Amino acid sequence: MRYLSTRGEAPLLPFEAAMMTGLASDGGLYVPESVPALAPDEIGALAGLPYEEAAFRVMRPFVGDAFGDEEFRALIVDAYAGFSHRARVPLVQLAENHFLLELFHGPTLAFKDVAMQLIGRLFAAVLARTGRRIAIVGATSGDTGSAAIEAFRGLPGVDVFILFPEGRVSEVQRRQMTTPAEANVHALALAGTFDDCQARLKEMFADRAFADAVGLAGVNSINWARVLAQVVYFVTAAVSLGAPRRAVSFTVPTGNFGDVYAGSIARRLGVPIERLVVATNQNDILDRTLRTGESRREGVRPSISPSMDIEVSSNFERALFDAYGRDAAAVRADMASLRADGGFRVGQGALSALREVYASGRASEEETAAAIARTLRETGELVCPHTAVGLHVAEGHLGATPMVTLATAHPAKFPDAVEAATGLRPPLPARLSHLYDRPERLTRVPDDAEALKRLVRERL
Ligand SMILES: *Cc1c(COP(=O)(O)O)cnc(C)c1O
Repeated sequence: MRYLSTRGEAPLLPFEAAMMTGLASDGGLYVPESVPALAPDEIGALAGLPYEEAAFRVMRPFVGDAFGDEEFRALIVDAYAGFSHRARVPLVQLAENHFLLELFHGPTLAFKDVAMQLIGRLFAAVLARTGRRIAIVGATSGDTGSAAIEAFRGLPGVDVFILFPEGRVSEVQRRQMTTPAEANVHALALAGTFDDCQARLKEMFADRAFADAVGLAGVNSINWARVLAQVVYFVTAAVSLGAPRRAVSFTVPTGNFGDVYAGSIARRLGVPIERLVVATNQNDILDRTLRTGESRREGVRPSISPSMDIEVSSNFERALFDAYGRDAAAVRADMASLRADGGFRVGQGALSALREVYASGRASEEETAAAIARTLRETGELVCPHTAVGLHVAEGHLGATPMVTLATAHPAKFPDAVEAATGLRPPLPARLSHLYDRPERLTRVPDDAEALKRLVRERL
């Protein structure tokens, strides 16, 4: 299995190289050359398997010869051993035809752990084998950074630098990034938005001399290995609800489009997924794009679901590439127009192709808070604001097909928003109580790629 860039001007790479690189050298994102279909009986045979074994079977065809079967299995088992729920990603029934897929039982209480705990181990295995050193540099709206730091802290051969928008992450998120004491962890508070963090990151990657000199590697949701790890729970949840005989739909609280794109891979694997509903908060560029075909930036407004306060959803490029029938030139033209004019218009054929797979909706701040309160009242479940955005949007898409809404973070990660909506302050699970005892360590950085490059060189 080889991977090609959505911009068509980077070399094709095998899994290991695509994972270690992150962003392609032409600025594009790696996608698999082809998606191997699972036969209906192979999908059916996943029923009742431990999550780890299902994960092995779903991901195995994508990794090629990067890992031997036994090595890969062991890494998967180890990755999920730290999850606090035996089912790893339990499915909870909310109503007759509406389910919640709880993805927040990992060490940092957000779904990012599902992928990050695995790719930390995949990276470590490759580094141990090759003796290489790398500098992981990531941008975060809050959860990726804490998950990356948790996955890479103290690992030999790796330094991890995380850029987060100062003042725009929750206190729990910030403390998860600033309290680890390991010398290889560097939490960088940038004066700007998440989109600024992501833009500076792309500039650092675009400087090939710098990237090669420091061994730059990316674990943002553009990293194909993260997408791949997220494909698994779309498959296992669908199987739990009767796939391949019965179709399901998913509603996905969306920011950078990585999670919902993973759902589209599950669909291409042959899992009967009727619709993938993209749920956005008031930063609704994806909803507007899917409704009108016009993708236009309007500025990010901070919300109570900060991990979705994003305007440039990197992984949307992967969906566009598929929708344009893998026409890299069309993707390059849209991305150039986004850079130059702050927007682009999706071609008509591509828009129809996107709508075959994705539906969408948005939740305002009031609707998000109301959904937190209503869910508690009607089901007894306390949900985080991102999940609430999903639940609000899902309600507009309920029908005969079972709907699974992804619960992307634990409510205790966003206690202020949950308390404001319900009067209840969700307690932090005991295993995270150390967050408030340890001193914080962070570096304030300007919104400037050259300054960031100097800092990375100095710290290595
Ligand atoms: C990252 C994140 C999202 C958005 O996921 P994407 O893959 O970026 O679309 C939603 N909710 C939470 C809690 C997150 O951390």
